[in-house]
Amino acid sequence: AQCHPSMNPADEALVRVAYGSHGLVETLAGEHRDCRFRRNVGRPCCGDHVLVRADGGDAWVVDEILARRNEFMKADARGRPQVVAANLDRVLVVVAPRPMPSRDLLDRYLVAVHSLGIEPVIVLNKAELMADTDIDTDHALAAIDDYIRLGYTVVRTSCKQSPGVTPLAELVQAGTSILVGQSGVGKSSLAHQLLPDIDIQTGALSTTTGKGTHTTTTTILYTLPGGGRLIDSPGVWEYGLWTLDDADIAAGYPEFRPWLGECRFNNCRHASEPGCAIKAAVANGEITARRYAAYTRLLEQNGGQ
Ligand code: GDP
Ligand code: ZN
Repeated sequence: AQCHPSMNPADEALVRVAYGSHGLVETLAGEHRDCRFRRNVGRPCCGDHVLVRADGGDAWVVDEILARRNEFMKADARGRPQVVAANLDRVLVVVAPRPMPSRDLLDRYLVAVHSLGIEPVIVLNKAELMADTDIDTDHALAAIDDYIRLGYTVVRTSCKQSPGVTPLAELVQAGTSILVGQSGVGKSSLAHQLLPDIDIQTGALSTTTGKGTHTTTTTILYTLPGGGRLIDSPGVWEYGLWTLDDADIAAGYPEFRPWLGECRFNNCRHASEPGCAIKAAVANGEITARRYAAYTRLLEQNGGQ
């Protein structure tokens, strides 16, 4: 950004809500401001660190978007990838015994999170249903055990009964987290339990609370009582693999890592190539056939995009 001597001093701020041409920010000093976005700064999104200046009267303008650590994308109304959040520390991938996700979908999420350069946390919500005999909890438990064995952090929560959401509330006290997962697993229920029952300073927003009285599809960043931040982004995260190359997909499988670089060809996709160390590990039982099959399906889908 250019610095002009007559410019008002800039404050660093965090974007909490971004609309097309304006949004709500919170300065490092904790002031909430409704700001216009200067047209040529790009498109600020939720979680962006920005510079804000006085803009005449009590108006404020966002002047610059500071470099992003990562970008979280969703499809816009026309199906095109759009950045909805930036600078995440943690993606909470929510699953439940009902609807139990396909493991392929969970793998997809985990690979996409890995490509953001952050580790996912698997949240097993509706944990109290694990005692429900009408549900195939053996299947659910086996799946969860697989992911624990792969080294993923799994947190059990319930919005209805013990264990409640305390383990998750502790985890999200540091950094910025976002909830993702298929529809019906309890993302909005979890957000409502984690969010304080206080009015957010809305400015131009018509909504008054973080408790779901708003019906917008807007992505909103909340500061949690314990100090962390939670981004509530309505709708399902169907996408996230647009920008992946084949190597990103393989890198998203932690159990592949010891063998990456051991294949005969250094550009091996671990598909039909001879001398593939990953396929050898599958044959030896060191990588499960299910995860390898899921990998090849992901590879095909990615190639088809
Ligand atoms: P979302 O689509 O992921 O945002 O899911 P919702 O938060 O809308 O929840 C979907 C349904 O699951 C609702 O009927 C919730 O009341 C229910 N639900 C959410 N959390 C739990 C839970 O921990 N246990 C049970 N039994 N139901 C839950
Ligand atoms: Zn290979």
